[in-house]
Amino acid sequence: MKIHGYEMRAVRQPLVRAAREIDGPGKGEVLVRVVGCGVCHTDLGFLYEGVPVRHALPLVLGHEIAGVVVSEGEGVSGLSGKAVIVPAVIPCGACAICRRGRGDLCRKQVFPGNDVHGGFASHVVVPAQGLCVVPGGERDPAMLARLSVVADAVSTAYQAVLKSGLSNDDFAVSIGVGGVGNFAAQIAAARGARVLAIDVDDGRLGRMREHGAEWTLNVRGMGTDDIRKRVREIAKTFGLPQTEWKIFETSGTGAGQSAAWALLTYGAVLSVVGFHPGDVSVRLSNLMAFAARAEGTWGCLPEHFPAVLELVREGRIALDPFIEMHPMSELPQVLEQMNRHEITRRPVLLPDFEK
Ligand SMILES: [Zn+2]
Ligand SMILES: [Zn+2]
Repeated sequence: MKIHGYEMRAVRQPLVRAAREIDGPGKGEVLVRVVGCGVCHTDLGFLYEGVPVRHALPLVLGHEIAGVVVSEGEGVSGLSGKAVIVPAVIPCGACAICRRGRGDLCRKQVFPGNDVHGGFASHVVVPAQGLCVVPGGERDPAMLARLSVVADAVSTAYQAVLKSGLSNDDFAVSIGVGGVGNFAAQIAAARGARVLAIDVDDGRLGRMREHGAEWTLNVRGMGTDDIRKRVREIAKTFGLPQTEWKIFETSGTGAGQSAAWALLTYGAVLSVVGFHPGDVSVRLSNLMAFAARAEGTWGCLPEHFPAVLELVREGRIALDPFIEMHPMSELPQVLEQMNRHEITRRPVLLPDFEK
């Protein structure tokens, strides 16, 4: 059969709509009809910044996929007709690393839109391993499309919060409350933390005040020292803990990373979620002096997806204020607008190839 999709053919060149013949899903794989695919800043990195993709070009990008399984390859059963969220990082599930529970490090992991053709397409072929079934989603395409952002933005934020060891009444600081950061803030709040959201955009901060953040701080034009001073003031004024802050860097900017480092306190955890290609100068000894921890996070283990889905279904994570829907034919313009910072919500693309 033919799969329609938007191919990246070269860095900084517009995506090209093209059709490609496939043989059908292979062993352990399924063919998924895409119902929605979110756009991530990682896609912008591939397309505009020359971050290398692992598959040879041309490649269909897109790794935030929700859809319906239309056929199963050898060895797969029980998924046909089911609605699924495709994790952005799909561990093999069988190697020694996966068996130790560290599928995020699996060297045979599949990242759609990077290792294999992705979701800016009519269909996608992905491993059956790790798919998150959405009960009833096949009957509600509008709901299923919205859930595409669980594949990466929501679940990656969830894993970051989990790894940080965040607990009730912790003080959490979310730096950059865009596509991923808003969910980190919401999840931290859902897990009982008191959350300060930091950004340079008043629109984003306004949305956060309604969804999880007790305090917001617009740091446009502020230096690192001023930011640290203001955050300490907030903590003092409101009687928040002075130690063990949970800091989530999701801005993916040098300024955000510098500010995140400056907020380290005794026993703090700095979680680096956003990607910034440049260098940031820090005094590494602060980790020692504060007995603090800095850590990265990569995607989210498929085993956590049902819990994330549950938080969304209970309304403890709001999606609608943070996403906007577009027909997939608008993808090239959407990417351009995102690259110019003209879109502050996460775009979700709805396939319209039959038109
Ligand atoms: Zn992503
Ligand atoms: Zn593995």
